[in-house]
Amino acid sequence: MSKHVMVVGTGNAALCAALAALESGAQVTMLEKAGEDLAGGNTKYPAGAMRFAYDGSGHLMPLISDQDDPRLPNTDFGSYTKDKFASNLLGFNDGRDLSPEQRDLIDLSGEMMRWLATHGVTFEPIYSRQSFEKDGKHVF
Ligand SMILES: Cc1cc2nc3c(=O)[nH]c(=O)nc-3n(C[C@H](O)[C@H](O)[C@H](O)COP(=O)(O)OP(=O)(O)OC[C@H]3O[C@@H](n4cnc5c(N)ncnc54)[C@H](O)[C@@H]3O)c2cc1C
Repeated sequence: MSKHVMVVGTGNAALCAALAALESGAQVTMLEKAGEDLAGGNTKYPAGAMRFAYDGSGHLMPLISDQDDPRLPNTDFGSYTKDKFASNLLGFNDGRDLSPEQRDLIDLSGEMMRWLATHGVTFEPIYSRQSFEKDGKHVF
């Protein structure tokens, strides 16, 4: 007999939990207290942006949905290492060390993006908000 899982909320975390439960064969019901116009949680505020560690464009390219975007060959994505992510997160910790959960967040962030990409989530670089032009190149 398959299990029935109730997921509370429809934000990113809830959607991941629902997908994982579905994949393990459960029936899933999602409950959202917000009206339809506000469903989907807070992710609309950062315009769907997600922070994750990556080492250069080789890690990013497989995630990008429009591989024919003419800007791609002329883009410098740099890298966002786990150390950099950790140092940014520490800035919010009021002097405390990173918690085990924060370490997981950092360590699994790249894997999480790849998992989402294999579950129908499509990604695009946020040229309008996260890059600038330098010497004719889009630099993130
Ligand atoms: C203004 C703003 C700017 C941000 N900027 C950035 C950024 O630049 N970069 C970045 O990485 N992150 C940013 N964030 C954070 C990011 O949006 C959140 O970390 C992320 O969306 C959290 O996802 P979540 O699924 O954990 O929770 P949420 O998106 O908060 O989802 C929770 C959901 O549960 C529902 N819910 C709550 N209680 C109940 C209940 N009792 N019954 C039913 N449903 C319930 C809520 O209505 C909501 O839909 C920003 C957030 C805000 C608010």
